[in-house]
Amino acid sequence: MSVKPKVVVVGSINMDMVTKSSRFPKKGETITGVGFDQFPGGKGANQAVAAARLGADVTMIGAVGNDHTGQALLEHLKKEKINTDFINVHQTVSTGMAQITVAEEDNHIIIVPGANHAISKEQIESAVDVIKEADIMLLQLEIPLEMVEYAASVATQFGVKVILNPAPAQELPGELIELCHYITPNETELTELTGETDIIKGTQKLLSASVDAVVVTLGSMGASYRRAKDNENTNIVGIHAEVVDTTGAGDTFNGALAVALAEDSELEKAVPFANAAAALSVTKFGAQSGMPTAQEMLKYKS
Ligand code: ADP
Repeated sequence: MSVKPKVVVVGSINMDMVTKSSRFPKKGETITGVGFDQFPGGKGANQAVAAARLGADVTMIGAVGNDHTGQALLEHLKKEKINTDFINVHQTVSTGMAQITVAEEDNHIIIVPGANHAISKEQIESAVDVIKEADIMLLQLEIPLEMVEYAASVATQFGVKVILNPAPAQELPGELIELCHYITPNETELTELTGETDIIKGTQKLLSASVDAVVVTLGSMGASYRRAKDNENTNIVGIHAEVVDTTGAGDTFNGALAVALAEDSELEKAVPFANAAAALSVTKFGAQSGMPTAQEMLKYKS
């Protein structure tokens, strides 16, 4: 019997509240909308769900508030077979929330990080026994940078490899980059991080900071990666998909990449696997609902 790959995700947990309207309200105006839905989200939780669906043993380190939304999100993560033992329930801050208004073929989004910004070093330390047994740690940038860096330092201390998905884009301290083995920006994030619009120049710049590999996601064009050991750019072409909703495509990609790398695959196999999982995810509505299962991905594994 094969052992499940172990993935630890340290990151955000949000509820996405989506209101649909025929138009946006003007300043100070109240209008009647046409629909409302709630979807579990947050890049951390999305990536944890992607990895768990693909058969990994996933532990999520994060935080929610002591409210109905937080309870619902915890239940949801448990249903996805994610270990929630290290998710703190905060008494004084609300659960992270993304308020999304969809109208006029556009959207307005307000994110309130709430409990996501209350993740503490003590909380990460309390999970040290799980972290040191993990095959890989997966990080994003929706929690304070200081906590991202701290989590990466704990992982590397125990020889656990770190994937950093630098989203949403922001400037990164060199110390954090040095703690990461894989950095996975999309094209916009790569430009934001390096000041380069050219993928070859951008990935070269990031690699020079002691990173093993940079993997760039390219939307419908697929992905490309560059490893420090050979300093060559390899392109993986996009898989044709009947696109319904690309929300969460990057999260599916990262979750799948983490599982493949945790299983000890090399990037030659791991990136095409993540590319296929992400292409499948865009064929359904919602960030998490289209994330494929291990069963659905069997034909993409060699
Ligand atoms: P993000 O969601 O972070 O902006 P991308 O848009 O680069 O990231 O998408 C992440 C991955 O999702 C891509 O590398 C690709 O594998 C897959 N993907 C995204 N859009 C499509 C599409 N239209 N068709 C097929 N695959 C897609």
